[in-house]
Amino acid sequence: MEDLIIIGGGPAGLTAGLYAARSRLKTLLLEKLSPGGQVLLTDSVENYPGFPEGISGFELMDRMRRQAENFGLDIQSREVIQLHLTPDKKEVVTANGLLESRSLILTMGATPRKLGIDGEDRLTGKGVSYCATCDGPFYRDREVAVIGGGDTAVEEALYLTRFATRVHIVHRRNELRATKLLQERAFAQERIAFVWDTVPTRIVGETGVATIELKHVKTGHLSQLRVDGVFVFVGYDPNNKLVKSLLELDSYGFVLTNNDLETSVPGVFAAGDIRSKLLRQISTAVGEGATAAFAAERYLENRT
Ligand code: NAP
Repeated sequence: MEDLIIIGGGPAGLTAGLYAARSRLKTLLLEKLSPGGQVLLTDSVENYPGFPEGISGFELMDRMRRQAENFGLDIQSREVIQLHLTPDKKEVVTANGLLESRSLILTMGATPRKLGIDGEDRLTGKGVSYCATCDGPFYRDREVAVIGGGDTAVEEALYLTRFATRVHIVHRRNELRATKLLQERAFAQERIAFVWDTVPTRIVGETGVATIELKHVKTGHLSQLRVDGVFVFVGYDPNNKLVKSLLELDSYGFVLTNNDLETSVPGVFAAGDIRSKLLRQISTAVGEGATAAFAAERYLENRT
């Protein structure tokens, strides 16, 4: 029986693992593929303190993993299929066997949201993308559309200007949600054009993207925009499949916790993007990972 199982290997999970390993809890971190989480999709991280020149998402996560492993954290690539939660014991069913733990920290994060429009699924990987770092280089000297007006959309649109001759940011309102600094950069970037008060209604193409159909939300007017690629950044949905029927969630499906990051089931904690909260950042995920590990340790102490 483990003292603690952490599910998910992004910044929150790896930090929880680092703290738990240093506290000498018998800890296992489970990750479906390899640790890193969504940060791996980010070309450059500029607002994680301590890196004044910025740091690549891959390098930051590699450092976090190595640091946790240096203190003895056991990281295993195993997909979790089901959880059984009781006050005494948490059972973790994985693709290759059952694991038992006295406590759990959930750090499964969130997944990019889809638009849910015609052509999106069919053309995913053939011009429709959710990762500029992965697919941006395919659009050298081409035109692309970015859907969304938040931090991710604007940051990734700026990144795409390294390759594309024109990046059309299509946003459903007439002002951006993104941080002011990112807005200033986007407005100053000549390769970025804005399409305000507009939503995509259809992505058209046979073997690749040919055009997207756009609808003006105020007039209802339909138009076509010729682009070679469509990058969708319209927020994230929580990876809550395992806990949907077991824990209290907010109306968007994010896991509710108290101040100590404990969920509605004692001994089960949550940290990072999966949690219901105001700000989803690497810096907030890291702080929550530390808090959750400390709270789990206290929970275990109180039960012995
Ligand atoms: P977000 O802040 O939720 O923004 C989503 C954007 O997509 C909004 O502009 C929203 O429009 C739009 N949108 C949502 N559903 C849509 C739909 N069905 N059709 C068209 N547009 C739609 O998501 P995010 O930008 O991915 O950011 C998520 C979190 O990560 C935020 O807390 C953000 O601050 C953080 N983040 C931070 C950084 C950074 O600090 N560098 C980088 C990336 C992400 P409305 O504005 O009208 O709602």
